[in-house]
Amino acid sequence: MKINIMTLFPEMFEPIKASMLGRAADNGIIELNIVNIRDYTEDKHCRVDDTPFGGGAGMLMQVQPIITCYRQNEFAGRTIYMSPRGRKLSQQLAAELAGEGELTILCGHYEGVDERALTELSAEEISIGDYVLTGGELPAMVLIDTVARFMPGVLASDESVMEESIYSGLLEYPQYTRPRSMAEGDVPDVLLSGDHRKIELWRFEQSMRLTRERRPELWAAFVRKFRADEKAYPKKERLLIKSIIDECQTEINPPLK
Ligand code: SAM
Repeated sequence: MKINIMTLFPEMFEPIKASMLGRAADNGIIELNIVNIRDYTEDKHCRVDDTPFGGGAGMLMQVQPIITCYRQNEFAGRTIYMSPRGRKLSQQLAAELAGEGELTILCGHYEGVDERALTELSAEEISIGDYVLTGGELPAMVLIDTVARFMPGVLASDESVMEESIYSGLLEYPQYTRPRSMAEGDVPDVLLSGDHRKIELWRFEQSMRLTRERRPELWAAFVRKFRADEKAYPKKERLLIKSIIDECQTEINPPLK
């Protein structure tokens, strides 16, 4: 996949060249093409920003350098503007973007970007969360990292990304490694049993309990999905889900003594 990044601060992308993403680039899985929007300004003082019409705090990135940068480089594919007002980044969206051959990401700065640049680029806006950062560079790196993990050959095991927190709608179960036993606690017996089915069901139950406790909105969505198509779940999973749903109802409406 070719990922074009349009930014005023190309040096901020140095960290992404290390580790797993660096290897993905070395192996030709991802080609990162980072361009400095300032190199395309036609202003003789190299300005790329100006004050907003109608007043208000801060500066806005101007249309001309962005559009010239995009056109001269002949960027293609889905164009994304990192923006707090965008669609929220999720595992589902990242998996969808991982199927693209080329992505172009525009990183905003200051108070944002002149709206006409976004219209001209047909940019879709993506947010990494309900908080505001000073620029789109960190959000772009978050997006690239999340998307890259869905690309074949980036992770050691392609299975792991499908099993992870959130992808299935549930948070990940607790995990343990050596030693089996220590002052801080013992590894649950079931994980040492060698019974893979039992382990699978234990993990599923732990995932459901954690999700119910920590992310009630994810739990509610999981229950809705389950109720819409109970038959899609194997019998043991189905019974387990029902017992945990019943538990919640018992907690809300305890039986009369
Ligand atoms: N005035 C803008 C607003 O209220 O929506 C915020 C501008 S912010 C200071 C500067 C840039 O950081 C934005 O143009 C955007 O590219 C990026 N940015 C900030 N927070 C972000 C978020 N949560 N997700 C994605 N990009 C973000």
